[in-house]
Amino acid sequence: MSEKSCDALDKLRDAIDDVDGKLIDLLAKRLALVADVGEVKSEAGVPIYAPEREAIMLGKRRAEAEIAGVGGDLIEDILRRLMRESYHREKDVGFKCLNPQLRDVVIIGGNGKLGTVFKRMLELSGYNVKVLEKEQWDQSDALLSNAGLVIVSVPINLTLSIIDKLTNLPDDCILVDLTSTKSKPLAHMLAVHQGPVLGLHPMFGPDIASLAKQVIIYCDGRDSDKYQWLLEQISIWGAKLTLADANEHDGAMTLVQGMRHFTTFVYGQHLAAENPNMDKLLEYSSPIYRLELAMVGRLFAQDSQLYADIIFSSNENTKMFSRYLARFEMANTMLLSGDREGFINAFQEVSQWFGDYSQQFLDESKNLLMKAHDSRAV
Ligand code: NAD
Repeated sequence: MSEKSCDALDKLRDAIDDVDGKLIDLLAKRLALVADVGEVKSEAGVPIYAPEREAIMLGKRRAEAEIAGVGGDLIEDILRRLMRESYHREKDVGFKCLNPQLRDVVIIGGNGKLGTVFKRMLELSGYNVKVLEKEQWDQSDALLSNAGLVIVSVPINLTLSIIDKLTNLPDDCILVDLTSTKSKPLAHMLAVHQGPVLGLHPMFGPDIASLAKQVIIYCDGRDSDKYQWLLEQISIWGAKLTLADANEHDGAMTLVQGMRHFTTFVYGQHLAAENPNMDKLLEYSSPIYRLELAMVGRLFAQDSQLYADIIFSSNENTKMFSRYLARFEMANTMLLSGDREGFINAFQEVSQWFGDYSQQFLDESKNLLMKAHDSRAV
């Protein structure tokens, strides 16, 4: 490069550094404003996630960005990232307490992964939270006698036997569980306790930074008017509540969790047995394979007991896996017999079944892949 070009490049880079500095100042101002919004929302008990406001704001900014020649997708990407940051910060401000008269909240298994998330959220909302852990059952009568809300958050394989022990709860105490399966825990809660009963299934793991936009499925048990405040409290935390019938929930989880985790487990097992060089695999990865490795690898960084419990939790899972295996074998037969035509026909049938969703999923995955590519560590 000539000296003149070098000078020109240096000047342009200095100008970019200057703009970046201004961007940082602006971001600091925006985050400070959002913190003020958080304070106001907390006092007023307004949910931290407001989907309509978010959609309207993004629409406006996209239009303004297009006029300025910045591009709608770019500004939406930047704003979504900023909003995510804001949700994380807003939760530290605390939340309005919707039921200040409530007696103690007792979380059974409250030092576990999910129990800790709920303990923190309830404490940030001003409730008096106590934990009943495995070595504390000798104090259970004292702990439970003043409970206004009891949340069961123990390993799945212990859940039913622990619920069955809760024979002495105060009549008006709300009994809730967080189990990943719903029909059996709900039936046991209804049998052991005559007061209000609610089943919850948080569709997220403990590594979330905030509950904003996280889905929590709920199954009504008994006296739903007595726990509406709790559902509203959870909405204030930003979570999206979805009502489900317990049996329907468990049926859907066969695909959403059972199949998902089991096929991931088998793929991980296959990789381990094939024993490829991971560094090389990462070097050669396409963005989608990189994402796949991340999705498979993350399973094995988590609790084997939890996944064993989810996978082994229902006979429906085993039936579903057998049907999947049969389809795998059919596809393999097609491959072994060189039936290319059969493969293309089957591909088109599935494509028709997905219909408009396949285009929607193509668009969504494009964004995901770009983000995965931007943030790759190697
Ligand atoms: P975890 O193993 O991290 O926590 C369980 C807690 O229960 C531990 O603190 C343990 O000491 C305690 N415990 C064990 N035996 C006990 C006993 N006899 N009495 C009292 N406490 C006892 O498990 P987790 O991942 O937090 O899961 C808890 C519940 O949350 C499960 O029902 C699970 O299905 C559900 N859940 C978990 C996740 C997740 O990603 N972790 C997501 C959704 C739902």
